[in-house]
Amino acid sequence: MQTRKRRNRKRSKRRAICCPRHGCYIDSVSQKHRLYADKAEHLQERGMRRRVSLQVMAHYTTVPLDNEWLEAFWCEVCQQNEWYWVVKSPEGDFTLNRIPEDLWQQAQGVILATGNPTVSEFTRRQSRRMNYYGVKDFVMVS
Ligand SMILES: [Zn+2]
Repeated sequence: MQTRKRRNRKRSKRRAICCPRHGCYIDSVSQKHRLYADKAEHLQERGMRRRVSLQVMAHYTTVPLDNEWLEAFWCEVCQQNEWYWVVKSPEGDFTLNRIPEDLWQQAQGVILATGNPTVSEFTRRQSRRMNYYGVKDFVMVS
């Protein structure tokens, strides 16, 4: 007979993501679209030293950004879906930002409002991506 302890089914795992405009909880309505750096500047913006970033980009065509992605959410108050650039902090907090134009280009497989997928060119480069093992640790330095 198994004793089933810990019926802690209520997972407090739900991500506390709030509408930046209304502060209410919002529900995800899309998958996460991962972001990739494909320029040294992208890495520099995230705290990597210039020289290191140039070295990294010389070796890798794209570098995945682990704690950032694009995701759409439904807000009750706004009554609409909104895309945000989500950044997860080391503490596990989420920050929602407006998405700068060029960030769409760094996302994988996002469909724009126009119905067009973002840059197939990116996908092409993506396929040439090398093994990035180890690079992640670099990227996390902030
Ligand atoms: Zn809202």
